[in-house]
Amino acid sequence: MKKAIDIIKKYNKFLIVSHKYPDGDSIGSQIALALGLLKIGKKAYIYNEDPPTDRYSRFKRINLIHTDKKDFDEEVIFSLDSAELNRIGFIKDEIDFTKPIINIDHHISNKNFGDINIVKPYYSSTAEIIYELLNRLTELDEEIATYLYIGILTDTGSFRYPNTTSHSLRVASKLVNYGVVASQISEFIWFTDPPARIKLLGDVLQNITLHDKFSIMYVTKNMLKNHGAKEEDTNEFVDYGLTIKNVKATAMIKEREGGILKVSLRSRNDVSVQELASEYGGGGHKTAAGFTYKGDLRVLKKELEKKLERIVN
Ligand code: AMP
Ligand code: MN
Ligand code: MN
Repeated sequence: MKKAIDIIKKYNKFLIVSHKYPDGDSIGSQIALALGLLKIGKKAYIYNEDPPTDRYSRFKRINLIHTDKKDFDEEVIFSLDSAELNRIGFIKDEIDFTKPIINIDHHISNKNFGDINIVKPYYSSTAEIIYELLNRLTELDEEIATYLYIGILTDTGSFRYPNTTSHSLRVASKLVNYGVVASQISEFIWFTDPPARIKLLGDVLQNITLHDKFSIMYVTKNMLKNHGAKEEDTNEFVDYGLTIKNVKATAMIKEREGGILKVSLRSRNDVSVQELASEYGGGGHKTAAGFTYKGDLRVLKKELEKKLERIVN
């Protein structure tokens, strides 16, 4: 932490990247860090492969997130919420990694690829780490607190997942003291679903396969098309697979263009799905992991059913 503070004090222009398909923790951590840097008179540029999903459209500062590099001439690179540099996607090719890299993350599988690595796997979210960093740099305010809160709220599944600790709740409480209205942030993020999402959810829940201790669901391109829905409309559907009594693990397979399948895995605290995701070249956390796969949906579903059967028993 001290070394990161020294670097921030020494340089002026900071590029902030995160993983592709950025989630609330990516977006919240990146914006909070950028706002903190701007506040102490530095320049910051957030660059992501993909724009924020519609869920985040009501937060004004998402305008700080760019999906083009323009001509920002960074001196230092912050990588947030990404276990390895490949996770940031093709934008990797446009960045000069000979510049100092500060790697801030909470994935246990983090490769420590930075010149400075602040990796805390026991933290709920990258936002929780950024909170500590910013506290050492400047005075927080309501706006910064809002974006940090988004990160913690989304990565803990609204303080329901096993990564919800007394520390994450304490940080959230401090953020509320800065004026964050917790219910309003939940409203902005969770009560803005397009009707197509709910109709699609109906279809997806219809096709759930229920086994003794695990469940599995899928969504095809056709199902999306039938409802005029986008892939992002299926985010968090995987959670339903775990709400069932006795189910210890669940998988959700999403069909993408070009024969690509995206798999989300979730488990109860006594089962780990992280190793399963790693087997397929993905990663994540003990109870929330994912990977992409090229191949046939039915074949992968069968394969996953065998593997899930094994890990829940
Ligand atoms: P998701 O199922 O996309 O919500 O992802 C759950 C967790 O798994 C996140 O914390 C991600 O960091 C991780 N994850 C998802 N997809 C991948 C992937 N292709 N490679 C590495 N980690 C992933
Ligand atoms: Mn993330
Ligand atoms: Mn995260």
